[in-house]
Amino acid sequence: MSINKFIVKPNLKIDLSIIKTDDTNGFSSKKDAKKVLKNNIKKMIALQDKLYADDNYSMLLIFQAMDAAGKDGTIKHVMSGLNPQGTQVTSFKQPSAEELNHNYLWRINKALPERGRIGIFNRSYYEEVLVVRVHDLIKNEKIPKELISDNIWNQRFKEINDFEKFLFDNGTIILKFFLHVSKEEQKKRFLERIDKKSKNWKFSDADIKERQFWNEYQKCYQEAISATSKKHAPWFIIPADHKWFMRLAVSEIIVETMDKLPINYPKLSAEQLKDLADCKKQLEDEK
Ligand code: ATP
Ligand code: MG
Repeated sequence: MSINKFIVKPNLKIDLSIIKTDDTNGFSSKKDAKKVLKNNIKKMIALQDKLYADDNYSMLLIFQAMDAAGKDGTIKHVMSGLNPQGTQVTSFKQPSAEELNHNYLWRINKALPERGRIGIFNRSYYEEVLVVRVHDLIKNEKIPKELISDNIWNQRFKEINDFEKFLFDNGTIILKFFLHVSKEEQKKRFLERIDKKSKNWKFSDADIKERQFWNEYQKCYQEAISATSKKHAPWFIIPADHKWFMRLAVSEIIVETMDKLPINYPKLSAEQLKDLADCKKQLEDEK
């Protein structure tokens, strides 16, 4: 699969309303897709092992989407089988009082993946130009009033771009996924959550309230993605109406990116090799 199809080219103004949510890129059966996903997961496990041993790069995978688009399921399926020691998942909710006493990247910095690790953000600092913008929450953020200008969103896009460039320059590979679901499919999934007892816990009436702001969210997503898709931190718009395809596409992008990284198992020096040989001999000579 060509992952280029889903990447947002830098400086391109996207229009989400004309980007398909039900594309399956030629895959017609869920069964075939599941096979490829399984194979990708195998490759990812091997690559993660190398990333961990290499211990220089880190990966940051950001998931953003409307409610019920499938962030949780995608994270669960695509990351299944990875070594838990090498991954860190963080879900970002409404900021706490302590978090609001700092700038909006404070809590983010604390959650960034260590070298050799894969960090997964379930929501992220992008909420700062999405929900905060849709509901005008900026006034709750304790930023001095005189510093909030009409240009605040463009200012935040620039801050985010600068932050991501900084991370990239210091060895963090960033991939950003927008799981693009249709309004119709969201309704179907909400109804399923209401109708199926085992899914009731996933439903919240706040989700219905947010659904009323669908168009505002799409507009903010569109602007944020257009302004912040960069070569060093690209956005991918993943068709999310078919969960099996969404998971496959995400796995494909992660594997292809990791495969290109110059990561290697550390090479031992002649001296270290000699030490190993000595240790081996010592073990073998044990009585
Ligand atoms: P689920 O699939 O379980 O519903 P979720 O990511 O929607 O997952 P919730 O606890 O339902 O989790 O919602 C978290 C809420 O926190 C979201 O509505 C999100 O917009 C909000 N949020 C996240 N970051 C911020 C932020 N910086 N400022 C304000 N609200 C935020
Ligand atoms: Mg929710």
